[in-house]
Amino acid sequence: MSKMPVLFVGHGSPMNAIEDNQYTRTWRSIAERLPKPEVILSVSAHWFTNGTHIMNEENPKTIHDMYGFPKELYEVTYNTAGSPGFAKISKNLISKATTFDNSWGIDHGTWSVLVHMYQDRDIPVFQISIDADAPPEEHYKIGMELRTLREQGVLIFGTGNVVHNLRLVDWNKVNKGFDWAYEFDEYIYENIFNKNHENILKYNELGNIARLAVPTPDHFYPLLYVLGASDKDDKISVYNKSCELGSLSMTAYLWE
Ligand code: ZN
Repeated sequence: MSKMPVLFVGHGSPMNAIEDNQYTRTWRSIAERLPKPEVILSVSAHWFTNGTHIMNEENPKTIHDMYGFPKELYEVTYNTAGSPGFAKISKNLISKATTFDNSWGIDHGTWSVLVHMYQDRDIPVFQISIDADAPPEEHYKIGMELRTLREQGVLIFGTGNVVHNLRLVDWNKVNKGFDWAYEFDEYIYENIFNKNHENILKYNELGNIARLAVPTPDHFYPLLYVLGASDKDDKISVYNKSCELGSLSMTAYLWE
């Protein structure tokens, strides 16, 4: 079995689920050139919990964990099988304490992208939550511990946004970002390509720019799982390198 790539996607607005735009077309084209995964392990910004939780049901439900969007968006479903088997293997690989938890489901961080990448819904999907209290190094370490899943056909998929500050969204900045948003996005980009993960884990040391780009770490941390699961020999590609509405970046990375 060929070794699976690892993927981080900037998901942006939930509306991307029902739109056809430059971002969603890129997501489709990424999926078209990847080997088809056996299973997708998703780490979504939207499952941000107390402790690390793992979904292990046979048939996870689609959840619509967002408010105030058009009715059409609440009608999107992403009904696939789960993977109790790989949930168990993951639990065994992660050294920190974890719990199985099926109170969540496939959330919009996951389905807003997968509806474009894998429209047939024929690949099992399960999620691992983000422990809100764990420091950056701990998320990165979980990614490292899960790395061997790549040899078993598992696509480790992180879905968030490198820059995500909803309070500062500027609806007049279509396809544009604030200077600090570009600066933070560029800092992450350079350190990803230079394989200087230490600098990414210490992003807070950037001070004000980091506070603006990552006011809360929920959308940033999915990147750390994927980084941890990456290998120093992987070829790295970047997609959708851009900012939206001032304070979001849509940048996606693939390691293969
Ligand atoms: Zn989100």
